[in-house]
Amino acid sequence: DVRHLQGFDHHEQVWLGRDTARGLTAIVSVHTTVLGPALGGTRIWPHTSFESGIIDALRLSRGMTFKSAIAGLPLGGGKAVIIADAKTEKTPAMLEAYAEMLNTLQGQYITAEDVGMTLADADFLAERAPNVSGTTKGGSGNPSPFTAEGTFVGLKAALRHRTGSDDLAGVRVAVQGLGSVGWSLCQKLHTEGAVLTVCDLDAVRTARAAETFGATVVSGDAIIAAGVDIFAPCALGGILSADTIPLLKAKIVAGAANNQLATAEDGQRLVTRGILYAPDYVINAGGVINVAAEMGDGGYDVATVTPRVARIADTLSAIFQRADSEGRTTDAVAEAMAREIVEAARK
Ligand code: NAD
Repeated sequence: DVRHLQGFDHHEQVWLGRDTARGLTAIVSVHTTVLGPALGGTRIWPHTSFESGIIDALRLSRGMTFKSAIAGLPLGGGKAVIIADAKTEKTPAMLEAYAEMLNTLQGQYITAEDVGMTLADADFLAERAPNVSGTTKGGSGNPSPFTAEGTFVGLKAALRHRTGSDDLAGVRVAVQGLGSVGWSLCQKLHTEGAVLTVCDLDAVRTARAAETFGATVVSGDAIIAAGVDIFAPCALGGILSADTIPLLKAKIVAGAANNQLATAEDGQRLVTRGILYAPDYVINAGGVINVAAEMGDGGYDVATVTPRVARIADTLSAIFQRADSEGRTTDAVAEAMAREIVEAARK
């Protein structure tokens, strides 16, 4: 019973799949199917309680509704969370049990990769269940390069809005998380002359970034207070909070991580500090734009993806301008835009 969880929209469907023998506890959440079938990745994460797992699934699936609506995709919002440690508890038996669950959902949810779920896992599931996207066999493959490209053009749009120029030469950028997206973002930033400060839990990755990009490596929370122009969160969510926002020296936050704002009030906290925030589900839509291209007539064609990802910059510029003219936060404007699109379709 999750009715006591306040502050969430109505979600169309939430399923629980549990198979204790095979180590599966999975929550599949469908926020809306108004614009199309609910698409969103499966996150495998060791939540310490069932409640935090379900809150994650509810927030992430709502974020997918907003993300796809603003990206102009004919898709609804869905997401799944498997409560497990992907490094130690993700077994073939567990994924088989999850595939059986996906089979029972009869197309109401389309899955893909997320944190803890790899391309190989997506291929494994696709052999056993329908509605698995982002696979290597006939699918659109790894979404991360497209997410990184969208984040890059979105970061430049934020810089242009703030300074009148998107020239990255000498601009100082702190990147938190050097995974699939963060690393690719660093490559693009470095190519255009940005000066990088990085952190990651994995010391091999930070050492490689120091060597490859001449990046300054900082540990843990020091990245938040780094003396930079732009902060790009590319690790996990909840990074912008009442505790961390006062520490930021950057005047722009533009990164790929989902659910960056810990609470709804944190958008206003950023505005009060004069920090321009690129809403996460707008700037990181490159991956879902790529996955959605699998569903068009004629199959996946990367040529249709690139211009759509480039449009993320225009969308963000429009959000920044509307936020300025209406005196609202960028995240409030983005959410209003997404809800307008969904409500228009519902009517
Ligand atoms: P990833 O798992 O490949 O990389 C995450 C990296 O962050 C890892 O290197 C990890 O060690 C590091 N990390 C984790 N916690 C950290 C911490 N506290 N401090 C520093 N580093 C930390 O994930 P990814 O695919 O690169 O995705 C990164 C973020 O972007 C996630 O929030 C994800 O939900 C979001 N996102 C990704 C995509 C995509 O296409 N991959 C699409 C949309 C959103």
